[in-house]
Amino acid sequence: MARPLIAGNWKMNLRLSEAISLAEAVRREAEKADGPDLLLCPPFPFLAAVGEALRGSRVALGAQTLHPEPKGAYTGEVAGEMLAEVGCRFAIVGHSERRQHFREDNAAVAARVRAAHRARLAALVCVGETLPEREEGRTLEVVERQAGAALEAHPSDVASVTVAYEPVWAIGTGRIATVEQAAEAHQAIRRLVRETRPSARDVRVLYGGSVTPDTAPALLAHPEVDGALVGGASLKADSFLAIVRAVPKARLGRSA
Ligand code: PEP
Repeated sequence: MARPLIAGNWKMNLRLSEAISLAEAVRREAEKADGPDLLLCPPFPFLAAVGEALRGSRVALGAQTLHPEPKGAYTGEVAGEMLAEVGCRFAIVGHSERRQHFREDNAAVAARVRAAHRARLAALVCVGETLPEREEGRTLEVVERQAGAALEAHPSDVASVTVAYEPVWAIGTGRIATVEQAAEAHQAIRRLVRETRPSARDVRVLYGGSVTPDTAPALLAHPEVDGALVGGASLKADSFLAIVRAVPKARLGRSA
């Protein structure tokens, strides 16, 4: 079983001073006690300063997206190599807001997974169905198609894979998947990883979508749930750290 990961996706929120204070609070928590692996994904302009605040700690830094190319005439875009240079170890890929607002389809997501590996970043791949897709009974079909496209883009000898199941209808809505709904999707994703990338021994399937200190304990107690990708509740130290502390002690202390 993989060591749990709690990741904060700050999206386009916070001022620089707030971002640094929040990073420092998470760092202090990480120093205090054994806990899950931690990842913070600030907006691009804050990466270097937050990376500095986290330097030497066990809190990893991640970007919210990356461009497929290593360099070039792509005004406004950022390459994985640049992210690695400022200390990123992860890049979120395929977040539903990227799929929706920036028209990133499965091919675009796959290109970004390849770019992440080229830059030696771990891709945190997001997949999830919309509400109409769930209501039409197509949840697993959609999740498997999205995850399959992203997994094919991982090198065949990849050792570690991180996927977040994020039902689109649960993101930022206060509506959360039941533990059973999450577990069903997680099982399907895990099965697909086993089939397509058997070299991956460190496989983490996170849940994302309106995770709060109230909803986290039941989700994180389920053996199919290897952690959480947290949006809104990651913007305040109190709520994010309450989620971090909700990881059952029995899941800690063992690396994949
Ligand atoms: C997210 O954006 O990845 C997310 C899960 O957001 P929220 O926790 O706010 O639903």
